[in-house]
Amino acid sequence: MRLVIRANRLVDGSGAEPTAAEVIIDGDRIIDVFRGQGTMARDDDQVLSLLEGTLIPGLIDAHVHLVGSGEPGDAAFGVGDVMSSIPTVTLNCFRNAQRDLDAGFTTVRDAAARYYADIALRNAINSGALRGPRIWACGLGITSTAGHMDREKVLPPHVSLPGPSAVADTPDEARKAVRQNLRYDVDFIKFNATLTEHVRRYGGYCAPEMTAETMQALIQEAHWHGRKVTAHCYGGDGATWALDAEIDGIEHGFYLSDSQLDRMASQGTVLCPTLSVVGRFREFGERALPVGAQNLELWRQKAIAHAWKTVRRARELGVRIICGTDAAMPYVRHGENAYELEMLVEAGLSTHEALVAATGGAADGIGFPDVGRIEAGRYADLVLVDADPLADIRVLQAPECIALVIKGGEIVVDRRAGMASTAGTAA
Ligand SMILES: [Zn+2]
Repeated sequence: MRLVIRANRLVDGSGAEPTAAEVIIDGDRIIDVFRGQGTMARDDDQVLSLLEGTLIPGLIDAHVHLVGSGEPGDAAFGVGDVMSSIPTVTLNCFRNAQRDLDAGFTTVRDAAARYYADIALRNAINSGALRGPRIWACGLGITSTAGHMDREKVLPPHVSLPGPSAVADTPDEARKAVRQNLRYDVDFIKFNATLTEHVRRYGGYCAPEMTAETMQALIQEAHWHGRKVTAHCYGGDGATWALDAEIDGIEHGFYLSDSQLDRMASQGTVLCPTLSVVGRFREFGERALPVGAQNLELWRQKAIAHAWKTVRRARELGVRIICGTDAAMPYVRHGENAYELEMLVEAGLSTHEALVAATGGAADGIGFPDVGRIEAGRYADLVLVDADPLADIRVLQAPECIALVIKGGEIVVDRRAGMASTAGTAA
């Protein structure tokens, strides 16, 4: 049976103005969208009238780590996570994914997990065995020895772990690390273009983490296999070399220069600024630093001074900006993903631009064309908001405003009983 959803106010994720519309769904896909009301349903269609509130596409968080909750003290990337068993890591991923879905985020891009837990969970959700958001997964992040994501650097030198990270120091090792991820059918490749450690110790200097030749080999290998590549990258030479190698996306990018942003605009490189991390730095101060990393204080202050300015400049220069939180970082909690849209508006995006950055723009940016817009051919992933997010983007952070979440044509969250309009009727 087809499902016809009637909405008085639909925002389709493309940037088009809101209209009344009917969305025709067959199975898990949208097969047609008609502007207007009350005309297209056939006698045997199931009809769902959502005449109050605003119907938007299922939201996309383009940078999460399902392995970590974002609760302060959860050392997702530190010693604590090395001490967690593989089943524990996987179950944590499952719990955090539920929080994202409940918040209206029907798609998350996982920007590095451990033990291929992201792949196992993605496959289980896609098969229908488990509830959860769609996961766009990269498997292991690729890093250098002692690099940003080299988990073993927290261990004594005589201890080695099987497969928590993909460590590559040469072009050949980078190709092999990409291919290792391809074994598990990853959706994209993530690597580290710049170190964090030098930022800590040398007053904010963005040291490249890999040589230009290694980045070239890594990105070429991924592109040969049809995978987009994005990098943890603050700026400096690491950003220039990644752009030389035609990287598809840059994560964080707090210290990108105007000339680098210009290149990103002309090359179509996407910026995922993860302002949530910096927003929580500002809100919680030193408490928002990772456990045992008080030497990051200078970095915290520098990030606050630059991040919003860089995003504002990126927008002015025409760089595509997408919504990603880095959920798992301290106080960047799964389920509070929509905070990123507020941060993007603070950086100068209009509310509608921020919404596109978390829907159609994110889908384009990460290369997942089946999600992000309410249009024929895409998955029927929809959210009914009991308010107008174009008037105030912060309503997306209020659980009671996320009245209905539909994924693949099925209702997965239903809070309509609490809707202001419904409550009024009931009283
Ligand atoms: Zn991250």
